[in-house]
Amino acid sequence: MGQELVNKLVASIDAERVLTGEQVKERYSHIWRMEDSLNALAVVLVKDVEEVSLVLRVCNEAKKAVVVHGGLTNLVGSTETTGDEVVISLEKMNKIIEVDKSSRTMTVESGVILEDILEAANNVNLLFPLNFGAKGSAQIGGVISTNAGGLRVFRYGMTRALVLGLEAVLADGTIISSMKKIIKDNSAYDLKQMFIGSEGTLGVITKAVLKLVERPMSRVTAFVAFEEYPRVVEFLKYMDKGLAGTLSGYELIWGETYECMTSPPAAAKPPLPHGHKYYVLLEGLGSDQEADQFRLQTLLEQAFEKEMVVDAAIAHTESDLDWFWTIREDVHVVKSQCNNDQHFDISLPIPLIGEQIELMKKGLHEIDGVEKVFPFGHVADGNVHFIIGKRDTSDPLREAINDVIYGPLQAIGGSVSAEHGIGLHKKKYLHLCRSESEIALMHRLKSCYDPNGILNPGKVL
Ligand SMILES: Cc1cc2nc3c(=O)[nH]c(=O)nc-3n(C[C@H](O)[C@H](O)[C@H](O)COP(=O)(O)OP(=O)(O)OC[C@H]3O[C@@H](n4cnc5c(N)ncnc54)[C@H](O)[C@@H]3O)c2cc1C
Repeated sequence: MGQELVNKLVASIDAERVLTGEQVKERYSHIWRMEDSLNALAVVLVKDVEEVSLVLRVCNEAKKAVVVHGGLTNLVGSTETTGDEVVISLEKMNKIIEVDKSSRTMTVESGVILEDILEAANNVNLLFPLNFGAKGSAQIGGVISTNAGGLRVFRYGMTRALVLGLEAVLADGTIISSMKKIIKDNSAYDLKQMFIGSEGTLGVITKAVLKLVERPMSRVTAFVAFEEYPRVVEFLKYMDKGLAGTLSGYELIWGETYECMTSPPAAAKPPLPHGHKYYVLLEGLGSDQEADQFRLQTLLEQAFEKEMVVDAAIAHTESDLDWFWTIREDVHVVKSQCNNDQHFDISLPIPLIGEQIELMKKGLHEIDGVEKVFPFGHVADGNVHFIIGKRDTSDPLREAINDVIYGPLQAIGGSVSAEHGIGLHKKKYLHLCRSESEIALMHRLKSCYDPNGILNPGKVL
């Protein structure tokens, strides 16, 4: 039956774009595990929406599972496959169709790499305000399917807020297209939102209209140190007010993580000395470099006088900006210090973060087998990441770690996923942040969009 289906695909699509056997094994299912061969029945390198529709129709009729591959940078196992599944890869659908300067929109195919979108917007003095460490590999279809967040959510929102139009294909091959450039559309249900953040379980995204904003004319950045968490929150409110709406990033790095990010083998030197409890990397995007730099400097001096902060370093040049942001963006350095790394991206109410993360760190260090614990995150969004190093990859150890981190979230109104999604790895914990009736409705929606359950089966729900 597998071969029959492959034959059908080959008969309708250029044979060289339907990969099987050894060609499949030469591929991988995650950028961090390139040494592990992909296990799949076939990989189809689709070239347009009609082909996506055809592949889905054929697979749906045969009730064959389909997993969509974007840039393979997700951190929740959502692109893993079994040997019996068909992979649709969007890598050849990588055209930027239009940049419309007047509407401030960009129309793209879903295989375009995020960094190419950032560059195309920049070339016309506009900004696509989504930015995160995996931008060089993540594809916009994957970014939309995970409703990715990143470093500027505080000011510009998650991906959901930046998608104006979408084209997607349902499991039975039906093309749903709403490629409008308009900002407001209250004509009944906003169907595109169902595909955003659904991790390839409700449809395959093929095109999008993205919202751009005017490119800021200035960028200011500083590293600031604190000894107490309440000061971190106080300073956030102070800077948000003081920078009058231009604060765009407010990243918290715990002392031990900062030390790891700024000590060999990390290339970056520390802009502030090691030894403080918390470090914040902040960014303001404004309109006048000199005036904005002066305002930042003044606000920091006043914060010192008020004893809100204990140390600070301002970026004065472009190379300072690169230096400071590389420290935060290059999380690979932290990962490389962790054996058998395990990742988290939890959400919790901002005022509770200091105390809760201390409790979690204590609980983690009490687990036999936990070697390293590195917290950091988008604290202005209430989003904390952990990278944890551990002795082995056994289930009991992984679950003991999960229990410490996910355990308290239900009682404090948090979430097991702030931005990475549920995929395979967090499925078991979904009930901690979604009610029984919410999950039941999700199942009903899934069977409406994908009655045969062929799209990314076993993931999310
Ligand atoms: C170093 C690093 C830093 C990161 N930082 C952040 C961060 O700050 N914020 C954040 O939110 N995430 C972050 N991530 C996670 C990851 O980059 C995002 O989830 C990204 O959006 C995934 O895009 P992708 O193209 O790699 O998708 P993939 O990993 O290929 O796929 C992700 C999911 O989307 C589905 N999918 C992919 N393309 C499509 C499509 N066209 N149609 C339907 N479904 C599709 C897949 O089936 C899968 O379920 C980071 C990852 C790394 C490695």
